[in-house]
Amino acid sequence: MSQRIASRLLPTRAVTEGAGVQVRRAIGTPELRELDPFLLLDHFGSDDPDDYGAGFPEHPHRGFVTFTHMLDGHMEHRDSMGNRGDLRAGGAQWMKAASGVIHAEMPRQTRGRMRGFQLWLNLPAAEKMSAPDYRDFSADDIPEVTDGATRVRVLAGEYGGRQGALRDPHTGLLYLEARLPAHGRLDVPLQASHQAFVYVFEGEAAILGHPVPPHHLAVLGAGDSLGLDAGADGARLILVAGRPLGESVERHGPFVMNTRQEIEQALADYRDGRLVRPRA
Ligand code: MN
Repeated sequence: MSQRIASRLLPTRAVTEGAGVQVRRAIGTPELRELDPFLLLDHFGSDDPDDYGAGFPEHPHRGFVTFTHMLDGHMEHRDSMGNRGDLRAGGAQWMKAASGVIHAEMPRQTRGRMRGFQLWLNLPAAEKMSAPDYRDFSADDIPEVTDGATRVRVLAGEYGGRQGALRDPHTGLLYLEARLPAHGRLDVPLQASHQAFVYVFEGEAAILGHPVPPHHLAVLGAGDSLGLDAGADGARLILVAGRPLGESVERHGPFVMNTRQEIEQALADYRDGRLVRPRA
């Protein structure tokens, strides 16, 4: 067993998304354009409806998967596949945009806290123009592994002998949300071939003695396990890992393809109303 270190520690960038929603961006920034297979990580979180009320009105995606994880609040999703989903605290949504989806993600609350993550997972070239797909999971669908006061929710992949709610075949995604008590310890086996990161959203955690402050992303180095130690106030964090695709990445806003030409095609298809294929 070799322990993974925090090879890079990155703060988030404040970004305005959707119709004016403030998010903290941790992947997809000038400092970290991508972390193959992860294209983007946004952390949204506010107690102020003015920060999130405008939501994410109708917009397109092509070429990848969006994975949304709600910590607090209530969002409604509608898309061109005909899906309507309610995202509530503790739940998650997996949307394979692939050849093209147009969707809206709108708050269904006018007060209180809205908090969560959106992660973009790249698709291999052979899947980018495949048919879109969609699944959502309520908090009850997500297994929780407890060890004393440490609680680990297994959103995707496997941990502690529990299979997560989601199996992402393209990246072998592991997505854990952990809550550690003061000075709590968490050990997680990781595939040596997988890219992995930790994002702390409450408290502080240390990796081999190196602190990861709140709202920081720790990119993990090589190895097949991770040990985390929470600070005096405990910690809440996500640990995410996935198999790198090793393919070229061309991106333009909501479109992520392999070549510039495919991006031009996506822009033309969206402009001409051909992004979304008629359903069979
Ligand atoms: Mn979207």
